[in-house]
Amino acid sequence: MGQRDPRIAVVGAGIAGLTVAAGLTRLGLASTVFEQAPQLGEVGAGLQLAPNAVRLLRRLGLGRELDRVAVRPEAIEMRRWQDGELIMVTELGDACEQRYGAPYYTVHRADLHRCLRALLPDDPVRLGRRCRSVSERPDGVELGFDTGEGHRADLVVGADGIHSVVRAALLPDRPRFSGETIYRGLVRADRLPSLAERPRVRLWLGPGRHVVCYPVSGGDWISFGATVPADDWQVESWSAEADPGELRKAYQGWHPDVVNLLAEADPVRRWALHDRDAVDRWSTDRLTLVGDAAHPMLPFFAQGANQAVEDAFALAACLARTDGGVAGALRRYEEVRAPRVAQVHQRSRGNATALHLPDGVAQRDRDAALRHRADLSHQDWLYGHDAELVGTG
Ligand code: FAD
Repeated sequence: MGQRDPRIAVVGAGIAGLTVAAGLTRLGLASTVFEQAPQLGEVGAGLQLAPNAVRLLRRLGLGRELDRVAVRPEAIEMRRWQDGELIMVTELGDACEQRYGAPYYTVHRADLHRCLRALLPDDPVRLGRRCRSVSERPDGVELGFDTGEGHRADLVVGADGIHSVVRAALLPDRPRFSGETIYRGLVRADRLPSLAERPRVRLWLGPGRHVVCYPVSGGDWISFGATVPADDWQVESWSAEADPGELRKAYQGWHPDVVNLLAEADPVRRWALHDRDAVDRWSTDRLTLVGDAAHPMLPFFAQGANQAVEDAFALAACLARTDGGVAGALRRYEEVRAPRVAQVHQRSRGNATALHLPDGVAQRDRDAALRHRADLSHQDWLYGHDAELVGTG
């Protein structure tokens, strides 16, 4: 970096914000993180962490802790909704680690969040600071918080999620409702011996909806997500409780593994799925975005948090090693990230249709294509990517 390290403010202490702060610290750059919540304690359910993110998280020293709290699934399998016929299986486990130098994990969001928080000292994480205003001037950025306080920085990183206040200072767009909602929850693994016996990511695909489940928290719990199309539910909150009876009704007639899983699900939470169109610019000379603030995507490709981790490493690498100052680093960061996230974003939207086809010719063609692409080598572009190397390359 230049003669004086920039004063960096990160807005939001979710997975993206904490990874940015930890990634900057690792490269010798300090930052201050402002989080609206008075206490940290990520809610939600499970996340799939693929090798493209795990490789980077290990560089933060989280390898051993992730091994302890997360689960290494042996495979991802997709099945038909009614009879459970296997559509395809992708082997993970050791084959994945050997191929990509990092494993595939399934993890509770709270466990990952705690691991990331533990990397940072208390002082630079300021809780109970909801950012309300972002004013960029030629010589700095002024943040305003609802406590009445202000903060001046040379660079502001918006890691404040899909409704980002920092993004609003940069771009005029709004989140787009996908017409889909997802019910999420956790079931004790000992209640579901047939699903818990072998650690796998399991999906069942049916007309208009799909279910995914996998073990988390060292295998003690099974996390699930079950989509239901709706135009009457726009709530976006991990903590919005929903009626388990309605969920079960939506999956009547599905394979007994699905029915049994949902029969155990209580409480359940329901989440309206939004994204935004992909953009190729999300920075000025002093403001930039990471994670869902930059590119909120539908969760149907299980990469949102993975891409947030990639962003964090790419940004830290650009800031640490550029000779063009902050503005040059942000240009470079956007250049390397925009094509990558656009590709992942497109897959996520594409799956909103592909995973929910009605039974028929198109569904059979999709199943054949899935089978054809089952080998892990088809994921090289995704799992083999090293966002930090690309950032410095
Ligand atoms: P967030 O997690 O939204 O964090 C934003 C943070 O900023 C929060 O702490 C918030 O309190 C804070 N904040 C917001 N506004 C302000 C403000 N004004 N001032 C200060 N602080 C503020 N991704 C995967 O990789 N794998 C998966 O399997 C997967 N499954 C998913 C399933 C579902 C149902 C959904 C909805 C998403 C899934 N994702 C998955 C996506 C993933 O959850 C997100 O991409 C990821 O959590 C984004 O992290 P983030 O830190 O960018 O945003």
